[in-house]
Amino acid sequence: MVFADGDLVMRRVRSGQRASQWGRALLVCALYALGLGAVVIGLTHKKRPVTPSVHPLDRARARGMVDDLVPRIDPQDAFANAAILNALLDEVPHPRLQADAGCQARARIIAVQLDGRLSRVRFSGRQVCQLKRLKEVSVRQEGLGQDEVAEVAAFLLGKRLDSDVDVTRVVVPPFRFSGDSLDFLAADLGPLSAGEQLIGTYHTHPGTELTQGVLSDTDLAYMVSGQAQLGGSGRPLNEPGPHTDWLLDIVEPKRGDWNAYAHDRRRLGELFARCQSRPPCPLNELRLGGSDYNLFVRFYEEPLDEE
Ligand SMILES: [Zn+2]
Repeated sequence: MVFADGDLVMRRVRSGQRASQWGRALLVCALYALGLGAVVIGLTHKKRPVTPSVHPLDRARARGMVDDLVPRIDPQDAFANAAILNALLDEVPHPRLQADAGCQARARIIAVQLDGRLSRVRFSGRQVCQLKRLKEVSVRQEGLGQDEVAEVAAFLLGKRLDSDVDVTRVVVPPFRFSGDSLDFLAADLGPLSAGEQLIGTYHTHPGTELTQGVLSDTDLAYMVSGQAQLGGSGRPLNEPGPHTDWLLDIVEPKRGDWNAYAHDRRRLGELFARCQSRPPCPLNELRLGGSDYNLFVRFYEEPLDEE
């Protein structure tokens, strides 16, 4: 019995030791679990620096909207600006097909005669509305003074049938802006459809038609030397080719409408050379009747029943 009692005591002792070993094991497990939990919570809640998306459209969307129709553009993020503005242009409805569309513009025609060849360039009502939308983005950015804009630009693509040139697309290239000047990146405008060519440019200016309705010396320099990727190959825009037939340039000041200029390569080249060698540059002669440099052309609106 003594042995038995002793045995019992021993067993009790042993089972008591086992109990405390289990307790320690459980405690250790609990501490591990707590530690692991703390690490997981720490990792998931650690504030990481916000990395901008590699997708330009995501970056542009992350900047939000100034109002319902106007995205906030970034002076330095050229590819995000192009991505959001091209997406915006895609959404512009055709005024004739959607009676409640905010813009109900008529089609516009600009005729130019370059190197003896007549070109009647036609913008559909929708394309006029697309350019109006770009202007809204330009003039309604935050923090602008009464005459200021965030300059916005677009290339005009078109197709020719004899003298008639239909604008086929308005495409925003990647651009940076600061105040009233633009800086284009060597843009890839993507594939062109059969017969599609670059036919012109559009951009906004600050101010009024009287003070800013004319090309600037920066514009002139770009027109002489600008390049872009068109249809898969890099091209100086000013040289005529299968993808380039530059016919006109439109400047739209904040307070005003289109101020259009025939893209006469020879005269623009001469004016540029004169401005380089003998400043000041007589840019105003681009719209001065009687001047050899006068390239100003007016636009006409089509009656509604011709849409
Ligand atoms: Zn300009």
